[in-house]
Amino acid sequence: MAELSSSVLSVQGIGPKKAALLKKMNIHTLADILNTYPRDYEDRTRILPVAETQEGDKISIYATVGTAPTVHYVRKGMEITRLTAFDSTGVMHIIYFNNKYAAAQLREGTEYLFYGRVQRQGKQKVMVSPVAERYVGEGAPGRIVPVYPLTAGLCQRDMARLAETALQCPDLPEDPLPAPLRQAYALPDYAQAIRFIHAPHSIAEVQVARRRMVFEELFLLCCGLQRLKEKRREETGCPFPQTDLRPFWQALAFAPTGAQRRAVADCIRDARTSRPMNRLVQGDVGSGKTVVAAALCALAAQNGYQAAIMAPTEILAAQHYHSLCGIFDKLGLKTVLLTGSMGAKAKREALQAIASGQADIVAGTHALIQKNVEFARLGAVVADEQHRFGVAQRASLRSKGQAPHTLVMSATPIPRTLALILYGDLDISIIDELPPGRTPVATYAVGERMRKRIYAFMEKQIAAGGQVYVVCPLVEEGDTRLKSVEEHAAALQKALPNRHIGILHGKMKPAEKDAVMGLFSAGKLDVLAATTVIEVGVNVPNACLMVVEDADRFGLSQLHQLRGRVGRGRRQSFCIFFGADKGQAARDRLKILVSTNDGFEIARADLTQRGPGDFFGKRQHGLPGIKLANLSEDLQLMQNACNEAENLLQKDPTLAGYPVLRERVERLFSTDENEVFS
Ligand code: ADP
Ligand code: MG
Repeated sequence: MAELSSSVLSVQGIGPKKAALLKKMNIHTLADILNTYPRDYEDRTRILPVAETQEGDKISIYATVGTAPTVHYVRKGMEITRLTAFDSTGVMHIIYFNNKYAAAQLREGTEYLFYGRVQRQGKQKVMVSPVAERYVGEGAPGRIVPVYPLTAGLCQRDMARLAETALQCPDLPEDPLPAPLRQAYALPDYAQAIRFIHAPHSIAEVQVARRRMVFEELFLLCCGLQRLKEKRREETGCPFPQTDLRPFWQALAFAPTGAQRRAVADCIRDARTSRPMNRLVQGDVGSGKTVVAAALCALAAQNGYQAAIMAPTEILAAQHYHSLCGIFDKLGLKTVLLTGSMGAKAKREALQAIASGQADIVAGTHALIQKNVEFARLGAVVADEQHRFGVAQRASLRSKGQAPHTLVMSATPIPRTLALILYGDLDISIIDELPPGRTPVATYAVGERMRKRIYAFMEKQIAAGGQVYVVCPLVEEGDTRLKSVEEHAAALQKALPNRHIGILHGKMKPAEKDAVMGLFSAGKLDVLAATTVIEVGVNVPNACLMVVEDADRFGLSQLHQLRGRVGRGRRQSFCIFFGADKGQAARDRLKILVSTNDGFEIARADLTQRGPGDFFGKRQHGLPGIKLANLSEDLQLMQNACNEAENLLQKDPTLAGYPVLRERVERLFSTDENEVFS
């Protein structure tokens, strides 16, 4: 009999070819299958009389084939099979495209359960490519069918067969949730729940199981975070007793705002002590968070330690590198850059400078947490745009030093309960003041008929010495509804024949991206046509106009982030969103951005309009072990799970009485798993 550790190859119908495809999805064993949750379910148990079906319903009908299938060749490579099926209440027309085989199975005069979406063609009701099953009278007709994530070459039947085999294994994992907790919250045990997930008899079972799994995820996570926090409390780090920042302030090109000074004072207070600092700086885009990070670097250097700033993109890392050089060169401190795309020689030199202690300040990307990076005496770490990093990644960076002081910076406002989980152990400094002399970005939402005028406006801004961003949404392959960056750039070049236009998108090689970004920063390009690779952190103060194409395709918070790329200098800046002619809903959404510049207010509106699912996309939170929980919808469950975790750890701090739980919690934050969450 198969065990959970058995390879997928042990299942009938899975050969080396399919096993290789499964491997691509990170599925190697039967245990992996159990952990691959369906992304949706088809409820084929809802059976309606034909007359009661409504256009748009995805339901089953129980109907008799009335006319034998007829095949029509529409054109080369396209054939349509038509038939009709009826019950006592009406007739359903059934159509298959390029699937003679499916239709050929259907016998005239025989009853089938057809499952599909009901459409209307004139007066006729139509089902296109329904699943048809004979109902032989065993059990209830219709089923709940899990819909798994797939990759090309695999089908739902493969996944179903794998799941079925996995569920029969005698060695299902033990339940990490203590029984009294399960009882208190009426949660099924693991074995029951995993059956409900892969082989439910009703949607209600799916819901019960989901609730249990969400609780488990959050409970394990809370236990883990709680333990990390405890551990950190016992650490002794590197106190920074020298706190004279006068040379630093002098090297800065501007006077800090009150809010920046306060945040820096918070850091000084924390970093003086031997307990490692753990602080979040939250401030809207453009509020000047980088200064606080730089101040911490200066403190570290003054006390004989190195400091590292980790940014989520190469562009941002390079930008930090340049602005830090601008300050620290004057102070006689050495700043180096470390990114994945650097040439072998440059990388070797950087690694060498970091390991020898020659480098005082290091700016970089994820490359900083690679195994081959060793610091001589790392005393402070900064994670910029922290929501782009996982907990584990931040922990890896910290582990490069002896409990270094940690600063994380974010422009993303988050719901309170979530903040409790994410930042329960963090102190928070808020930057609630913009640098002086900023005139708010003037924002307009426009439609296609304004295009000529907008091009003329670009020309005017460029003639006055300004620069322009044009941002386009990512176009999926084969999607012809939107223009790609290249197409937009070509149109621009036609409209502005004498201007220099650069293109930036995610598929370019890092070195190419750097080159283009460098030209734009240096003012050698007038227009940068880009995808959202520039969304986060990019700082070119001379850019004074941002045009967003198909703005209705972006989330509000994302548009606000994008808008934050302009209005960084003294020039009056403008932001123009195309898409106001795409219907009332689009217009209403864009109006919010036109009417306010307040990131928190926009995030709130975003949350209510888009629903939280999108707002906190799966990867955004970067928390290990969260697959099902929706961090803004499952708030009550989250609160309960957290309270219970705290209670349990108070009674049993090392979880000695709960070996299964303990093992799972430890696995959650083990370094092996880091790779998975990177
Ligand atoms: P963010 O908070 O979005 O990371 P940055 O740190 O990139 O913001 O700062 C945005 C811009 O404001 C940069 O061009 C920076 O040089 C400038 N800046 C920051 N602080 C001040 C200040 N106190 N006075 C003037 N300009 C400032
Ligand atoms: Mg920033």
